Amino acid sequence: MSGDADVILVGGRIFTSVPEHPFARALALRGERLVAVGTDAQAEAWSGRRTRTIDVRGRVVVPGFIDAHAHVSSAAGEVGWTDLFSSRTREIALSRLRGRTADAPPGAWVFGMNWDESQWPDRRYLDREDLDQVSTVHPVIAVRRDRHMAALNSRGLEAAGDLVGLRGFEVDGSGRPTGVVKEDAFGSLWDRLSPSEAAVEAGLGTMARRAHRLGITSIHDVVDLRGLRAYQRLRRLGRLRVRVYAMPRDDLLPHLASAGLMSGLGDSWLRLGAIKVFSDGSLGAYTAALSEDYEGRPGERGMLIHKPRELRERLLIAHRAGFQTATHAIGDEAIRVTLDALESVLAEVPREDARHRIEHFELPDEDMIRRARAAGILASCQPNFIGWCSGPGGTYETRLGKDRASRNTPFQRIRRHRVPLCFGSDGMPYGPLHGLRWAVSGFFEHQRLPVEEAIRAYTSGSARASFEEDVKGTLATGKLADFVVLRGDPFHDPVDIGSMSVDSTWIGGRHVYRRTAKR
Ligand SMILES: [Zn+2]
Repeated sequence: MSGDADVILVGGRIFTSVPEHPFARALALRGERLVAVGTDAQAEAWSGRRTRTIDVRGRVVVPGFIDAHAHVSSAAGEVGWTDLFSSRTREIALSRLRGRTADAPPGAWVFGMNWDESQWPDRRYLDREDLDQVSTVHPVIAVRRDRHMAALNSRGLEAAGDLVGLRGFEVDGSGRPTGVVKEDAFGSLWDRLSPSEAAVEAGLGTMARRAHRLGITSIHDVVDLRGLRAYQRLRRLGRLRVRVYAMPRDDLLPHLASAGLMSGLGDSWLRLGAIKVFSDGSLGAYTAALSEDYEGRPGERGMLIHKPRELRERLLIAHRAGFQTATHAIGDEAIRVTLDALESVLAEVPREDARHRIEHFELPDEDMIRRARAAGILASCQPNFIGWCSGPGGTYETRLGKDRASRNTPFQRIRRHRVPLCFGSDGMPYGPLHGLRWAVSGFFEHQRLPVEEAIRAYTSGSARASFEEDVKGTLATGKLADFVVLRGDPFHDPVDIGSMSVDSTWIGGRHVYRRTAKR
């Protein structure tokens, strides 16, 4: 009954994300849920003696952002590693790494991450010779921004000597390792060097605070065993600060399936999610699988991680066990093969509303979009990639040539064919407002969505992608009180959304972030 809301928020421009009544002025919450969303009077009817009333004075309020493709638990273990992302040249990246060797004992690994040669004048990968300039006494590894490859120095190569001959272990014409490791070689090395479970758990608090500042209230996070265990422990201790839909890597599938687990197990803080499967690599590393040659590289079409029959088999095991699947597919060939596999799996074991997902879905043609719609497959996209890769001289253009590049990320077509769309960032970088900027003002007309649609993809679209549309993703009575107050009005100035900021973030009725800087 009325009279006992904890908080009433009035005077807002509240985007509910509910199609029938997209805007409201006020909301009231009690405990972790919304008890009213509507006019100031409707919310104020819930006012009681202990109710706190906040007038947001015309500010825009949106549902909490749900990043549908995150790597928060992996990044948590790397808090403190050298981030090379904003290095404008190769030399700057190398000198940052060199700075790290000072406090590392000889023989200890030095880690760099997020380098991106496409931002450097010479557009050449980091390699052994570069990293030998960083240190000859420390093994050094620098992971590329796409996390599908890394470069090692000579000491690093010594420590990785047993990887010679694995797929992706690069050698030059004379058989000498270049220091570049991709795919299988990278995977094995990464398993060995990645942070401990304790490091992951310790870093998750920092990662949650970063999320709050960006207005992120839920994440669909790709997890390995360490991440999955760290999240469960934090949940048990009541210290999970962001809602998590945990998407286990497919090497965990046999164990999870044989234990009888399924997608959906858990609660509104931590839920077992989709199984993450890879079908190809990345355009930057020339490993995304294409139906035609890479620009300027005759005969090169990237790689499928699994033979089509093996991919189908994996997806079938997951599907049969009751899991949603989330398959990484960037190139048109990878998307086609993934659609083939999912269609065939769904034909063999029909399941109502399985909501299998294709992650990235960057180069689908019209026919693939239609097939996704018919099979009930969701598109899980990262609009921030448009800003990163889609511009003149960017990765799409250099890898695909102008013509093919101009067809990337067709959000308009995906919407027109009513393929359910959800948005995330892949952590490159995190930031829904930054991503939304590119969803409303991409380089090509077919990339651009109306701002309401774009925000829906980052809120209700992502809630649907985790089967949680009944509890979150929209602001309506009975839903979780997860919302964000913005500075700036994206409905009035959509193209400026990227420069707007988060004023405050609420999760489950708790105020988790408030901007304190002066106006
Ligand atoms: Zn990813």
